[in-house]
Amino acid sequence: MAAVDLKSLDKQNMEKFLESFDIVLSDCDGVLWRETDVINGSPEAVNKLKQLGKKFFFVTNNNGNTRLELVKKCKNFGYNAVTEEILCTSYLAAVYLKEKNFQKKVYIVGSEGIAQELDAQGIKHFGVGPDVMIGNELDIHKSFEPDPDVGAVIVGFDKHFSYPKLVKAATYAQMPGVHFLGTNPDLQRPSPYKTRYPGAGCFLLAIEAAAGKKAVILGKPETFISEIIKQKFHVNPSRTLMIGDNLNTDILLGKRCGYLTLMVLSGITSQEDLEVLKNSNSSILPDFWTNQLSDLHACLNTLS
Ligand SMILES: [Mg+2]
Repeated sequence: MAAVDLKSLDKQNMEKFLESFDIVLSDCDGVLWRETDVINGSPEAVNKLKQLGKKFFFVTNNNGNTRLELVKKCKNFGYNAVTEEILCTSYLAAVYLKEKNFQKKVYIVGSEGIAQELDAQGIKHFGVGPDVMIGNELDIHKSFEPDPDVGAVIVGFDKHFSYPKLVKAATYAQMPGVHFLGTNPDLQRPSPYKTRYPGAGCFLLAIEAAAGKKAVILGKPETFISEIIKQKFHVNPSRTLMIGDNLNTDILLGKRCGYLTLMVLSGITSQEDLEVLKNSNSSILPDFWTNQLSDLHACLNTLS
């Protein structure tokens, strides 16, 4: 059984579906909101799930914000969230190093969100902000003196990405014993305009190529995120529902961890994409799908 239309379930099967999980992990962009706009009906669905006693986590590959900033964003959109319910990759990067009892400095190719999460764990860092190429490119190779106290490179989304940053990150990343971490592998973000909107994964690929080394990736679909959830909240994978709009991150994570999966079509996957998938015998089909999260709310309301 794969990719069942949630709205096609009769009352009995809807009850069975609802009883089959205690924990919900939900992606954010494309499920709960699109960049700066809430997706209508999603807050009501999330609040209903919580009312029904489900534990709910906001699981995002976003690394430009801190957990506190995401709590604020949730609240502005009508989601009742607390810090412990937010898992973003800036936070995961800080937790990863904290767990390793990391004492050295981090070179960041990324944004303030990563810097602040490292601050919260008492980890030293530098690199955020512009690092502009001036003069001939050989000048950077000549003048750059690697800091021997750097023990990790974290790569996320960096609007100031530049050649000097590429040189520095690649140099640190290939040094023996240095942790080389990528927040998330997303190559594209949903663009509100006609442009391509390259994601953090593009910067990471460039640095990996330059360093000749692969990074440890922390966000979806890699399972570090689920290990953290399991460890902190004692999650039982077989009683967990993963909701997402992205097959290659959300649904793949769900499949790897043994979660029940629900795909919504309010983000980057279209109805046509889903039809192609269903006919392709893909092993990463979601268990259920629906157009948007408000459909789940409507289904749940038929039960009471
Ligand atoms: Mg998404």
